[in-house]
This record gives sequence, C-alpha cells and structure tokens, in this order.
Amino acid sequence: MYDCHVHTNFSTDATMDIEDAIRVSRKLGLGLIITDHMDYKHHIPNEFIFDPDEYFKEYEIYRSDELLLGVEIGFRDDSLDEIRKLKDNYPFDFIIGAIHVVNGMDIYYKDYYEGKSKEQAYEEYLKNMLLLVKHHDFYDSLAHMDYITRYSVYEDKGLYYAEFPDLIDEILRELSGADKAIEINTRWIHDRDTANNFIEILKRFKELGGKYITIGSDAHRPEDIGVNFKRAREIVHICNLKSVYYKGRRPCYVKQSLV
Ligand SMILES: [Zn+2]
Ligand SMILES: [Zn+2]
Repeated sequence: MYDCHVHTNFSTDATMDIEDAIRVSRKLGLGLIITDHMDYKHHIPNEFIFDPDEYFKEYEIYRSDELLLGVEIGFRDDSLDEIRKLKDNYPFDFIIGAIHVVNGMDIYYKDYYEGKSKEQAYEEYLKNMLLLVKHHDFYDSLAHMDYITRYSVYEDKGLYYAEFPDLIDEILRELSGADKAIEINTRWIHDRDTANNFIEILKRFKELGGKYITIGSDAHRPEDIGVNFKRAREIVHICNLKSVYYKGRRPCYVKQSLV
C-alpha cells in the first residue's frame, strides 16, 4: 500500500525532510509517492513552484520500489505550455491534477467567495474541474475533488452530488472514459459528513464505469503520513473500486493482502 500524496521541502507550504518521510512510512509499512506542489503563475511570485532539475537531482538517490517521485500540478488554463513541458521532460512516476485556483483566484482565500452564493462559487469550481478533465491529459489522478469544502465560507460547506448532478456526472464520465483515477484525500475523511458526501460521488463514479482510486494523505508533516488510511480502504471497498498507485505513469494494483 502506498501513500500517494505527500509533500516535502520542495513544496512552499511543507517542511518535511524526505528522510523523515521515509522513516515514518517504513514504520507504517507504507510505500510513498512524493508529490510536491507545482502551481504555475501563482499570485505570489515563485511560491508553490520548484526546480524539477533540483528535485530529481536531490531525490533520485532515494528512488526505489517503495519511494516513487511524482508531482501535484495545479491546473490552470493559462499555464498549459509549462505543464506540458514538465510532463514531457521529466520522468515522474505519478502526476496529480489539482484545482487550487479558479479563474485566476486561489480558492484558499476568502476573496474568491466574495459576492458569490455557494451555488455560484461551487459551480464555477466544478466547471473549472470539468475543463481540466475534458481537455487535458497531463494527470493520472484527480486530487481532492472536494477541496473547496475545506476553505469555503458558507455555513454548510458540503459538496453534495444532489446539488450538481449533471456537472458532477460529466466530470466522472470524462474521468472514467479516460481511465483516470480519483483520489481519496484522507486529510479530512475522518469527518463523517465529508466521507459520506464523497462516497456518494465515488459510487456514481463506479456506476459510470470508473475503476481506479488513489489514496493520499496530503501530508505536509511526517506525523500526517498514512492518516485515516483504514477509513479510506473501507470506502474503496464500499464503492467497489480498485486501489492503485502509479509507477512510471502506469497504474499498479495495490496487493489485496495489503488492502
Ligand atoms: Zn492540493
Ligand atoms: Zn497536496
């Protein structure tokens, strides 16, 4: 079993030494895929990007069957050339596609929600996600589909399938049609409502032909590696999907005995 979403010192918002990450994951019996942030054109210059030459130079010596090298790319329509170049020129094992910015605004910040109803803010977010999955092929797994629920400002932050069935179906159809994976981001999965809302979406993914799930903690500190993985494995089982990790950009099944 692998933790497929882990940030180390190459991510602006993480302070995790790769050797600490390896030590903790070994203790837990987990493999790791390092997925540092690459968010081109972030509004804070030089934040959330790293030098991929440096990354491979520094981390190549740690690479093994248990330590794979990936990246979390923040999707935005105005940085497609950079994304394509990165994907084509570096030997990543795994690429996570993430929506952190919608129409130029980072949804982590309150400004994005200003003057918008929940419906407007979430619809804009999901439409952006649809754009990613419909027109681009740089990624293997779609990260934290419910990311917006972590930072939105509304009383009820939940992302409910029933509120956007057509849009969510369209996204799920594109993902399953292209054999892409969806990530269970375990950081918030201990929350029962968050988990249940996501289970509903994953069940629909299965109905529409989806197969693959990647499980990632999104750890930015060693103590968060592998967090809530038991719950994630239960969810994969409930939804009758397959847990995979990626090596050389190809899905590999997580051995049943380890699930
Ligand atoms: Zn992310
Ligand atoms: Zn992340």
